[in-house]
Amino acid sequence: MPQLNHFDVIVIGSGPGGEGAAMGLTKAGLDVAVIEKESSVGGGCTHWGTIPSKALRHAVSRIIEFNNNPIFHTENTELHSTFSTILSHAKNVIDKQTKLRQGFYDRNQCTIINGTASFTDEHTVQVIHSDGSIDYYSANKFVIATGSRPYHPNDVDFSHERIYDSDSILSLEHDPRHIIIYGAGVIGCEYASIFRGLGVKTDLINTRDRLLAFLDNEISDSLSYHFWNNGVIIRNDETYQSIEGVDDGVIVNLKSGKKMKADCILYANGRTGNTDTLNLEAVGLEADSRGQLKVNSNYQTTVAHIYAVGDVIGYPSLASAAYDQGRFTAQAISQGQAANRLIEHIPTGIYTIPEISSVGKTEQELTAAKVPYEVGRSAFQHLARAQIAGKDVGSLKILFHRETKEILGIHCFGGRSSEIIHIGQAIMEQKGEANTIEYFVNTTFNYPTMAEAYRVAALNGLNRLF
Ligand code: FAD
Repeated sequence: MPQLNHFDVIVIGSGPGGEGAAMGLTKAGLDVAVIEKESSVGGGCTHWGTIPSKALRHAVSRIIEFNNNPIFHTENTELHSTFSTILSHAKNVIDKQTKLRQGFYDRNQCTIINGTASFTDEHTVQVIHSDGSIDYYSANKFVIATGSRPYHPNDVDFSHERIYDSDSILSLEHDPRHIIIYGAGVIGCEYASIFRGLGVKTDLINTRDRLLAFLDNEISDSLSYHFWNNGVIIRNDETYQSIEGVDDGVIVNLKSGKKMKADCILYANGRTGNTDTLNLEAVGLEADSRGQLKVNSNYQTTVAHIYAVGDVIGYPSLASAAYDQGRFTAQAISQGQAANRLIEHIPTGIYTIPEISSVGKTEQELTAAKVPYEVGRSAFQHLARAQIAGKDVGSLKILFHRETKEILGIHCFGGRSSEIIHIGQAIMEQKGEANTIEYFVNTTFNYPTMAEAYRVAALNGLNRLF
C-alpha cells in the first residue's frame, strides 16, 4: 500500500451538499479534502442541473417577453432563437459559478482532489484520476455527497443520438422542430416550457393522471391550462411500451396503443443516487433500490463515521436543501451534534413558464385533515406592478386557519413566484401569534410591488370571515 495522505474529513462530491459540508468543516478548523470526479467543482447542480436549466429558462422567458411586448417588436423584429444558441448563455453562467465556487475552496484552504473515489476500507478511499493513475487517501470521517443522476431503464438506448436525458440534453446540437418529453415531473415540465417557448412542438408524456400532483390542485390545473394554451400536448396516465431511436428521430409506442414520432426525446422520469461506484460493501453500507442511503438527524449513516447529504439521501433532493444539509453535517462532525434542522416547510420553486412556488399545506391536504381554513386570493392582473411589468398572468393564494388566522399554506403562480413566496414564508416561520395573515394588512409595503399581492390576498381572505 503506498503512503496515505490523511485528513480529518474527506468529502466525496463538490455539489451543494459537499460544498456546504466542506466550508463548514474548514471554518471549524478541520483539515478537509473534497474529492470530485469531474474536472471542476460545482456538482450536478452547477454543470447539468439547476444552473443550466434556470439559465436556459431565463433566456427563453426574455425572448417570450420581448415578442409579446408591442413596444419592442413589430412583426419584422420578432426574436427567434434555438436551444443551441441559448445554451451559450447557460455556459457563461456555469463558468462564473464554477470560478466563484472554486474561490471558496481556495480561500478556505480546502484540498480538492480530482478523481473518482471508492472505499477500500472503513477509513480509506482509492481515487482513480482521469489519466488512470490511482492514489489512496485516509480520513477519520467521511461525507458522501455524490448526488444523483438520471434514471436509465434498461430497455431505452441512451447511446442513440436522438435519445437524451436531462444531463445529455445540454449537448443537444441539432435544433429539433418536435420533441417528446417523457416524464412530467419538475424537470420534464421545466424543459417543456423551455422547448415550447422556443417554438418547438412539444409532447409531454405524464405517467401520472395530473401534472405535478404534489402541488395544490388549482396550481397544477393552472399549469396544465397554460401548457395547453401554449400548444404543449400533455398525455396523462401513459407509459411507454417501447422507445425506438431511428435515423431521423425517435418513435414512442405507448402501452395505451398510441404511437408518436418526434425529432428527439428527453427522458426525464426518475433519478438514481450515485452510490454504485463507491464500493460501499468495503465499509458495510448498503444503498436502497434507488441508490439512496439512510441517515439519522445528524446525517450519519449506519456506519457512525460516515455521513451523507444531498440527493444521495433522497427527499427533498433540492440544491437549496443540500447546502443546508452539508452545513448541518459540518456542525454534527465538529460539535458532536447538528445545531440546526431542515425547516419543516421547504418551499417548492418550479421554473416553468409561468413560474410556480408553494410553501406549506395544499387545499387538498387541509380538507383531508378537516382543518377549518379560509382562502385569500390576489390576481396579478389587478396589481399595478404586474400591469407595469406586463406580467398579469398569475395569482397568489394564502390558506389560513379561520379561527386562529395562522397561515397554513401559500401558493403562487406567475412571474417571480419563487421570489415572492419568501415574503410569506418568513411570516409562516414565525412562532405563535406572529404567524397570522393579519400581518399583511397591518404592515406597509412598498408600492407598486408584487409584494402587494399579500396585502390584497389577506384583505380578500379576512373579508370572507363572519
Ligand atoms: P450534485 O450537485 O449532483 O453533486 C454531486 C457531485 O459528486 C458531482 O459533482 C459528481 O461528479 C460527484 N461525484 C459523484 N460520484 C463521485 C465519486 N465516486 N467520486 C468523486 N466525485 C463523485 N434544485 C433546486 O433547489 N432548484 C432547482 O431549480 C433545481 N433544478 C434542477 C434542474 C435539473 C434539470 C436537475 C437535474 C436538478 C435540479 N435541482 C434543483 C436539483 C439539484 O440540482 C440537486 O438537488 C443538487 O444538485 C444536489 O446536490 P448534491 O450536492 O447532492 O449533488
